[in-house]
Amino acid sequence: MKVLKVFFICLCFSSLLKAQKPLPLNYNSSDVISELKRHLSVLAHDSLEGRETGFPGIEKAARYIESQFLQMGITPLPALKEYRQHYKTPYQNQNACNVMGVIEGSDLKNEYIVLSAHYDHLGKDGDIVYNGADDDGSGTVAVLTLAKTFKTLQNLGYGPRRSILFVLFSGEEKGLWGSDYFSKHQPVSFSKISCDLNIDMIGRVDTERHQSDTLNYIYVVGHNRISSELEPELERINKLQNPITLDYKFDDPADPQRIFYRSDHYNFARLGVPVLFFYDGMLLGDYHKPTDEIELIQWDVYAKRTNLIFRMALECANRNQKLKRDLK
Ligand SMILES: [Zn+2]
Repeated sequence: MKVLKVFFICLCFSSLLKAQKPLPLNYNSSDVISELKRHLSVLAHDSLEGRETGFPGIEKAARYIESQFLQMGITPLPALKEYRQHYKTPYQNQNACNVMGVIEGSDLKNEYIVLSAHYDHLGKDGDIVYNGADDDGSGTVAVLTLAKTFKTLQNLGYGPRRSILFVLFSGEEKGLWGSDYFSKHQPVSFSKISCDLNIDMIGRVDTERHQSDTLNYIYVVGHNRISSELEPELERINKLQNPITLDYKFDDPADPQRIFYRSDHYNFARLGVPVLFFYDGMLLGDYHKPTDEIELIQWDVYAKRTNLIFRMALECANRNQKLKRDLK
């Protein structure tokens, strides 16, 4: 079969695929980067007014995500009948929604893996727009890019064994509202979710890292909670191709930033779903400032991290067993 010019190379490393032919995809970082740029230039544009939950700008972001799902052939969850899960915001009772779509699995379709990010940000302050290119434009765009890759694979006859749910939460910046609602009104029972891979800020580098030899990294949070199988799987997959440094420092229980509790994966972990949270550590610098702009995204490392998350998601979707839930 012809090698398609799409996003990711897939070595045949998953347990299922090992017995089959290699996936017909070629990794080409410039293609990945142009796809990431295409989406982020829309979502981090001033016209979306900082994507604040409950305000008009975020509606444009929601419509964009829906339009992309529709174009890709990603379908709504049968339980929702549309891409949106509506909720009312606490305190002001404004309309808000999470946006999600699914690729149905093959022989294990009643089990799920979730790929998540939040599409809301801080809004604007007078004329100053908080575009949140990294936070969390980068995660939202990574989820869209992964959705397209998995759908392309499925169309070629290489669909995932488990169903994959792509979820973009709102209300995260306000206090994880969207994922809290999702966890309390589960459109897919959490008992059927093998894991949530949550992406919140993967397009920049933290201010402690200056030299090129230290920039090839990702912080991974949650690896040693809930499932003892996550860390060895991630380490193994990372080593197979273009390895990057997996830095677990934010999983220190003494982490003063309490990063583990600060993004949407927490609402899965709290209920016992294994999670991995992928994060760039951009806490100083431009974090929650109007300077979190697309011009400062570091595309090479962003594409590399997206590729790692893709390969981990592929493994989680296709491995024989759901991830064990064996840790406190
Ligand atoms: Zn965020």
